[in-house]
Amino acid sequence: MSVLGAEPAVADVRGTAMTGRDGARRVAVIGGGIAGLASAHFLLQRGWQPVVLEATEQLGGLGTHFEHQGVSIDRFYHVILDSDADLCGLMADIGIGDRLVWRETGMGFLVDGTLYPFNSPADLLRFGALGLVDRLRTGFGALYITSLKKHALDLDGVPARDWLLRLFGPRVFQRIWDPLLRSKFGDDYIDYFKHVRRWIPRLRPWVHGPSGVAA
Ligand SMILES: Cc1cc2nc3c(=O)[nH]c(=O)nc-3n(C[C@H](O)[C@H](O)[C@H](O)COP(=O)(O)OP(=O)(O)OC[C@H]3O[C@@H](n4cnc5c(N)ncnc54)[C@H](O)[C@@H]3O)c2cc1C
Repeated sequence: MSVLGAEPAVADVRGTAMTGRDGARRVAVIGGGIAGLASAHFLLQRGWQPVVLEATEQLGGLGTHFEHQGVSIDRFYHVILDSDADLCGLMADIGIGDRLVWRETGMGFLVDGTLYPFNSPADLLRFGALGLVDRLRTGFGALYITSLKKHALDLDGVPARDWLLRLFGPRVFQRIWDPLLRSKFGDDYIDYFKHVRRWIPRLRPWVHGPSGVAA
């Protein structure tokens, strides 16, 4: 168990609060992933004294890395897009914004042994793993999502699979979305309905071309 920010505390005589050395009220934050650490940061800004309680030896949760033969490797793949405004804002806020290095990067889609570039509207038009009608449907679907459903608050609680099937049709779903969902969330991804909204900014390259990526 790691404990971050723990300092000798003074118990409030009424037993309702604990204060740190400087009198700030202490707050326990359970979990030292990005959500817990960001919460601790905002609590500190507001004059509280957060104590982060992390179950493992390493802070960072799903965003951690590990060492392999002297090389630091992401535990999962991770990218930051320039559309991730909140994350970039948080990094600037804690003074590490200048450590982001923006690189143009590319995505590809491996289908039946052929690697198709998958970065721009032109790539989508050339995407031989789908017929022309389905390529157009994919493009219009992505345009609809990135232009009209940007925030998509009404999609909270909508099962991702149902929604994507409706929007893109069964062939596109089977070729593109189903493998993506399985590789990201595992075969029981159907339970992960809450993630629909999170992919929306990540569809942007198909519609508007590649953007900056920090890796
Ligand atoms: C394969 C994959 C790829 C991803 N790619 C991206 C990406 O490219 N860009 C992006 O922005 N996001 C990406 N994400 C998502 C991102 O990693 C997560 O959304 C984010 O790390 C979640 O942070 P969190 O703090 O909410 O939870 P977590 O990272 O899960 O942190 C929770 C922490 O709480 C600790 N904990 C749990 N229970 C307790 C307890 N009872 N007591 C104490 N500690 C506890 C855990 O050990 C963990 O450290 C990806 C996720 C995955 C799985």
